Amino acid sequence: MNALIVGGGIAGISIALHLLKRGCSITVIDQGENKSTSVATGLINPIVFRRTTKSWRADDFVPYQEKFYRDIEINTSTHFFNPLVIRRVFSSEQERNDWKKKQERTDYQHYLNKISAQDNEYNLVPCPFGSARVDNCFWVDSLKFMVAGKQLIEQHGTWKTEPFNHSFFNAGEKKYKDNSYSHIIFCEGYEVKNNPLFKNLAISPTKGQVLTVKSNLIPDDESLNRKCFVLPVGDNQFKIGSTYEWEAQDCSITDEGKNLILENLAILIDDKPQIIGHEAGIRPTTIDRRPFIGEHSKYKGNYVFNGLGTKGYMIAPLLSNEFTSFLLDGGELDPEVAVYRREKLGD
Ligand SMILES: Cc1cc2nc3c(=O)[nH]c(=O)nc-3n(C[C@H](O)[C@H](O)[C@H](O)COP(=O)(O)OP(=O)(O)OC[C@H]3O[C@@H](n4cnc5c(N)ncnc54)[C@H](O)[C@@H]3O)c2cc1C
Repeated sequence: MNALIVGGGIAGISIALHLLKRGCSITVIDQGENKSTSVATGLINPIVFRRTTKSWRADDFVPYQEKFYRDIEINTSTHFFNPLVIRRVFSSEQERNDWKKKQERTDYQHYLNKISAQDNEYNLVPCPFGSARVDNCFWVDSLKFMVAGKQLIEQHGTWKTEPFNHSFFNAGEKKYKDNSYSHIIFCEGYEVKNNPLFKNLAISPTKGQVLTVKSNLIPDDESLNRKCFVLPVGDNQFKIGSTYEWEAQDCSITDEGKNLILENLAILIDDKPQIIGHEAGIRPTTIDRRPFIGEHSKYKGNYVFNGLGTKGYMIAPLLSNEFTSFLLDGGELDPEVAVYRREKLGD
């Protein structure tokens, strides 16, 4: 196989690394303006709060991603992957009761800690309905991950920092500029809207803003969660976020976004922290919260891997392994990610 991968966010990097591992020749083209993978907080949390349910295929994704990120760390002698305990501060008595029921279930035992006497006494932040801890959570330092991923791809394949221009592309012949490929895999995140082959996919841009703050008053041994997440990143610094701004038109930071995050933080911490960073990014989200992965109906050999939504760091590693096996071994893709599940693409 000789594949061209368009887009070097977590989607493109994960696929490239899986294909390289199987001995394929790959080229990644990325325009060098990442707006999602680089801005993401990189939290891996298998639990959807409020309803206290497991996130889609969490039992498959969680163990696989750990191996994937640790292998990259070993192969690049870098460190970006961190185990994490998330403390959920309950928003209601109902949520606490739901947790208590689920904590007894074997299918939740890897994630939900039983509410303990220590949890009941926890008072570092206001917890009118109590709090409890989620196990098997992780945090990926996004910028370090991207550098490590790119480094491995450059060692074993090709990485080009340039825009992919559709006027030099022949989808029928799978030819870009002067080069022919066996497979073209499009991973442009929310910019799929500019791709004539896949622009009709129901992928919406959802903007998210994140603050980095410094404070001596925020607990730094756990990640707190209630209306917002609070992620300790060392040296009394914390990432706080994020906003969900549907159908975003741009990627600018706003006072409105900053104030909303600070209002949410104020529920947990009685402090005006020093703001040392403010970033915005755009998630490629889908209505049913499932990615779009598969081949174009007419232009065979052209594929899309997109719509990773709010959980790219958790789901991209295993999904790209399954995609690799679909391409090389004729394996089946999860029907939930089928490209044509919602609508026919235009030719
Ligand atoms: C504020 C925020 C917080 C988040 N927090 C988390 C989190 O805690 N945990 C989690 O799992 N996920 C999180 N996410 C979601 C996660 O970031 C996304 O699921 C993931 O990054 C999507 O990756 P992607 O590779 O599909 O897209 P992207 O990261 O957007 O990558 C697409 C790439 O394609 C390139 N590209 C596009 N068009 C072209 C072209 N024509 N030519 C060349 N290159 C092109 C771009 O330069 C870009 O690098 C967060 C996202 C945001 C915005």
